[in-house]
Amino acid sequence: MTRRRQIYEGKAKILYEGPEPGTLIQYFKDDATAFNAQKKGTINGKGVLNNRISEHIFTLLGTIGVPTHFIRRLNMREQLIRQVEIIPIEVVVRNVAAGSIVKRLGIEEGTQLPRTIIEYYYKDDALGDPMVADEHIACFGWASQEEMHDIADMAIRVNDFMCGLFAGIGIRLVDFKLEFGRFFDNDYSRVILADEISPDGCRLWDMTTGEKLDKDRFRQDLGGEVEAYQEIARRLGLLPEGENMVLDLDKHRKSKGK
Ligand code: UDP
Repeated sequence: MTRRRQIYEGKAKILYEGPEPGTLIQYFKDDATAFNAQKKGTINGKGVLNNRISEHIFTLLGTIGVPTHFIRRLNMREQLIRQVEIIPIEVVVRNVAAGSIVKRLGIEEGTQLPRTIIEYYYKDDALGDPMVADEHIACFGWASQEEMHDIADMAIRVNDFMCGLFAGIGIRLVDFKLEFGRFFDNDYSRVILADEISPDGCRLWDMTTGEKLDKDRFRQDLGGEVEAYQEIARRLGLLPEGENMVLDLDKHRKSKGK
């Protein structure tokens, strides 16, 4: 078998050349980072769970007409995606105060925001992903006004959909991060949802107990990261009740050196 060409390696994923032009393979690692990669660790089985969770959410978003880069899941850790040019903006949607907004504005964690807030961060590790305004995005040409309009529109639709999806399984969608990319169709480009949607980039709290079921368990050294991600997958109907099938299968694969 010929070795695939690696296109890019990020903190939690690797991108390989896809089988056809215009496609890539997105591989989900178990690596976890926080605080601009100052904290590093491994969450065993995270990649398998995030691959499944992201597949599920992107597929559902596709059915309500949100265009995404997702084509299909290939195996436990990989999915086939459309190649896009990533727009260097992290789009954060907030429903409840947590994380950086708590520190920045002194709002108490858990405060329900009177309306949904969309924030933009410039993707630049060396600068620590600074928050930017629409003005900066337009001024430096990171995205056009039209693209930003589409992005804000899609972010709201994704939020509405995901709030309902998670509320239905007893989870409060506190906040989340999205990334978008330009998809080229001949000379024409349009913005589609890219990257992933998983507990790595969302804050998900149990509605009755308030328990954190997301990457804050890793950020705040709370322990039980895999169990939390598994709980999300299980409630979404992606794991058989009372079983850790996905993780067990992955261990089996690893022990066979595959
Ligand atoms: N987030 C992310 N990647 C980042 C920064 C934030 O996925 O580089 C997510 C994070 O998981 C949370 C939301 O975006 O769900 C808002 O994060 P926040 O600005 O509060 O920053 P944090 O406290 O995570 O540093």
